[in-house]
Order: sequence, then C-alpha cells, then structure tokens
Amino acid sequence: MKPNAESTFSNGHRGTTTLVWFKRDLRIEDHAPLLRASQEGTCVCLYVYEPELLAAPDVSATHVAFINGCLAELGEQIEALGGQLVIRRGDIVDVLSDLNRTVGFRRIRSHQETGTEVTYRRDLRVKRWAEEHNIEWIETRQHGVFRGQKDRNGWAAKWNADMSCPQTPALSGLQTISGLASTGILSTAELGLGAPPQTEVQSPGSRAALRTLHEFLHQRGEPYQKAMSSPLEGATACSRLSPYLAYGALSMRQVYQSYQRRAHELRTRKKEGEQGLGTWSRSLSSFNKRLHWNGHFTQRLESDPSIEKRPLVRAFEGIRSEAPNLEHFEAWKEGRTGYPMVDACMRFLNATGWLNFRMRSMLVSFASYHLWLPWQMTGTYLARRFLDYEPGIHYNQLQMQSGVTGINAIRIYAPTKQALDQDPEGTFIRRWVPELENLPLRWLAEPHHIDMIDRHQSGFVPGESYPLPIVEHREAVRAARDRIFAVRRTDEAKAQAQDVLKRHGSRRKRRGRH
Ligand SMILES: Cc1cc2nc3c(=O)[nH]c(=O)nc-3n(C[C@H](O)[C@H](O)[C@H](O)COP(=O)(O)OP(=O)(O)OC[C@H]3O[C@@H](n4cnc5c(N)ncnc54)[C@H](O)[C@@H]3O)c2cc1C
Repeated sequence: MKPNAESTFSNGHRGTTTLVWFKRDLRIEDHAPLLRASQEGTCVCLYVYEPELLAAPDVSATHVAFINGCLAELGEQIEALGGQLVIRRGDIVDVLSDLNRTVGFRRIRSHQETGTEVTYRRDLRVKRWAEEHNIEWIETRQHGVFRGQKDRNGWAAKWNADMSCPQTPALSGLQTISGLASTGILSTAELGLGAPPQTEVQSPGSRAALRTLHEFLHQRGEPYQKAMSSPLEGATACSRLSPYLAYGALSMRQVYQSYQRRAHELRTRKKEGEQGLGTWSRSLSSFNKRLHWNGHFTQRLESDPSIEKRPLVRAFEGIRSEAPNLEHFEAWKEGRTGYPMVDACMRFLNATGWLNFRMRSMLVSFASYHLWLPWQMTGTYLARRFLDYEPGIHYNQLQMQSGVTGINAIRIYAPTKQALDQDPEGTFIRRWVPELENLPLRWLAEPHHIDMIDRHQSGFVPGESYPLPIVEHREAVRAARDRIFAVRRTDEAKAQAQDVLKRHGSRRKRRGRH
C-alpha cells in the first residue's frame, strides 16, 4: 500500500498499541518481541529501509536482495496471522514519529542488535526519541549475547542456559491495525543500490532456513568435520546456515536445540548398538563448537565495540595504513593475484556470497601479510561480499587472521599449499579460474613455473594467459613476519595482549592448562 492510503486510516487504539520493530530478526518463530506484543493487544509490525544504513560502506545490494526475500515471506506469514507488515523508507526516528502521530503507540519491542557504530548510534537516537515521547522500548536478547558483560567470566554457562530455554511458542493470531501506509518491498534499484552483483546466492527466508537446517542435520552433515576446509566439498558439507542466522531468519536457539535433538538421537541409537555413527557424532560435535563461537565473537563486539575499527592490541594500530598498494588491492578483489587458489576463492565468493572458513582465512591472510593491506580496508570489501556479514564475527576474524589480537598464534597461509591440500585434483581451481582449465594438474597451483614442453603443448603463456604472482611468496611472508613480530615483541604489545586475554579470552579449560 502506498503512503497516500494513510489519509483513510482511522484509529481506535491510540496509546495502547505496541510497535514491533524488525531488524536482523526476520522471522515469526521463536520471536519473543512479536509474541509479547501480540499478547499485549494491538500491534504494528514494522520494517524500515534506513538510508543511513543503506549508504554504509559495509552494506551491499546482495544483502538487501536477501533481506527483501526474507521480508516477502515474513509479510505473508504476518498476513496469515491476520496482521500487516508495514514497510517504510526513511530515517527511523522520522518513521517512528510519523507512525506515532497516526497510531499513538505505547511501547516498542525489538531484539537487541550487536552491530556497527552506525547501528549503535541509530539505536541511541531511537532510545532518546522514545524517552522524550514517554514510549517504552523493550529490547529482547537474541543469539546468546549479553549486554553489560565486561569480561568472559560465566559467559559460556549463560549462553548454554539461554540457548536451552524453551523457544517462544508459535503465535495463533495477531491483532494489528490495518490500512497503515506501507511502501511494500522496494527493489535494490529503487533503493539506489543497483542490481545485486552476486547472482548465485542462497535462497532467503525462514522456510529455506529450516530446510537447510534439516538437510544439514539429517542428510548432508556427516562429512562436515573432514570436508569443511575444502572449498569444493565444504559448500555442501557445511551447514550453510550463516546468512539465516545473520538476518535472523532462524534463531540460534532453534539451531542449537535442533542440533541437541539430533545429537541425542544419535547417542541413543549408538547405545542401542548401532554401528557406524562415529563420523556423524564427530561432525555434530564440531558444529556445536562453532555455534558457540558465533556467540563468543558477537559477545566480544558487544563488550568492546571498538573492535570494528581498532586492533585489539593498540600497539598494532596503523602498522599497515601507510600507502597501501591499491593495484594489489584491486587484483585481490578481482581474483587476479597470480595465485590460483586465492583467485579461485575470491571469484567463487564474488559469485556466490559464501566461502568456507579456511578459505576466508586464507584470503585475509594473503591480503594482510603478503600484500600488507589494512584489514579495515579489505574487511569492508569482504563485508559487502559475504551474504552472511555479521559484524561481531567478521571484525574479530579479520583481526585474528591479520595478527593483531595479541592472543592468537600468527598464522600465515601458503596459497600453494592450500591448493595442493584442499583441491588436490584441481577441480575447484579449474572451475573458477577457467584460464587454467587446460593446464596439466602439476602446474595448477603455480602456473608460472610451467616448463617449455607443457607451455608449448597447452599454449599457456605465464603473464599473458594468467597473471604472474603479484608478490613473491617467501619474500612477502618474511617481510610481514618481521614487521608483525617487531611490534608483538614489545613490552607495550605484551601488556596489551594480557589485558585482551583477561577481557576477551575464552574461559574454556584446555588440556594441559590450568
Ligand atoms: C575473515 C573471516 C570473516 C568472517 N566473517 C563472517 C561473517 O561475517 N559472518 C559469519 O557468519 N561468519 C563469518 N566468518 C566465520 C565462518 O567462516 C562462517 O561462519 C562460515 O564459513 C559460514 O558457513 P556455514 O554457515 O556453513 O558454517 P558452519 O561451519 O556450518 O558453522 C555453523 C555456524 O557456526 C558459526 N560459525 C562457524 N564458524 C565460525 C567462526 N569461525 N566464528 C564464529 N562463528 C562461526 C556460524 O554462525 C555458522 O553459520 C568469518 C570467518 C573469517 C575467517
């Protein structure tokens, strides 16, 4: 419905209505704010396209197209319950003011969001506005992240307890105000973002999310532990739940409890004597760890928002900022570095919006060490490319893979070794770097070393058919190590690392440690 429908609206619920503000929680199941609002009386369900957020450098048309798919389904589900999803475009405070003039609501309900500085400041403005208008804003915890938690003591137990709570019961109906003006879903072009550059991305929405979860836990997940690091097998062996969790098409509690039920079923079958379930059990145990990591990293950003922009160990601040090589940056973004595994991964990501953990780490390691580019710069590009962009995980991982946390080992990936280990048949590289399609397998990881005979037979010319390596591996890694360790060894960096460990380190006991 277009905004001019507003004039026909009449409201008998002034001052008694709850507004449910959907943000990164685009579902109706296990959605406490929606359930509470439905129990309180009349409610307005709202999603807002916020120009300030859409203009942020970490947001892309791919994200918004996915959000739109989720909104389409959410709108249908809310309608089936007898309600309406109101969609507006504009500054959130203007939208709230306008709706409040029309409806006169008593409170806002939403989920807490652990986002970027932009969303944090936006939330502060909403808070101020709500206070000025005597409107209560109740934010409910989502994904096991706790506000006001300054260190890690007791966090894991709280996460477990939160995730084990019963899910919010399903809604039986909604009493919403009908006839409110809504722009409906706006295309990425209408929002000024152009067409999404990535076309092979996952399907949006809660139904797709639940299907993906079920398929992983019951069909695809058995090889997860062994296959997750292969870019080829990982695409089907990994759960692929990340975009659904990032936009809240599924709650972490739904995922965790489904995992628990499946793990329990496997344990029972094992006890009853069934053989051959070991691979499933090990894979699900690895999966469970990663669900905790989601909360662990998001909690870090919640407790220390500076992680988005500043290194955890401040002594590393600015070490890569001096004159980053923009040509190298472009080559990395486009998959033209002359390192086939790096290029295949980047091109795969640029097409699909997803990449497994190991290959994300390798891309960042290559950018941060081999090319010595600032993680803030490469991280913004990746944020736009990752369909599952989740600030808490993203900025922590960028820092870890760039060696600036002070509490993680420095890990520099060798792209050639990764090609040999993770793509031994060369299938992935051939698929995503078609220039190398006809190259004999022995040259695929390092095509610039091709000998004269194969050069002649294949017609491959290093530097013409495919770029020469833009940096020399050994030399680049040696220089990067020297620079990182020169800072890491200082007393200042060591003291800061101790502080990081106290505030953010996992409290999980490791074998052999006290
Ligand atoms: C530089 C870098 C940036 C990253 N940025 C993001 C991001 O923006 N959003 C994001 O969801 N993940 C990010 N990750 C973590 C990880 O790569 C993805 O979660 C994973 O590849 C998503 O695929 P999946 O859902 O099939 O994961 P699975 O392996 O099936 O894991 C299940 C879920 O566990 C969580 N998870 C898995 N690995 C990690 C991890 N290392 N840290 C925290 N949580 C984890 C995710 O929620 C994931 O959906 C990043 C990793 C790196 C190295």
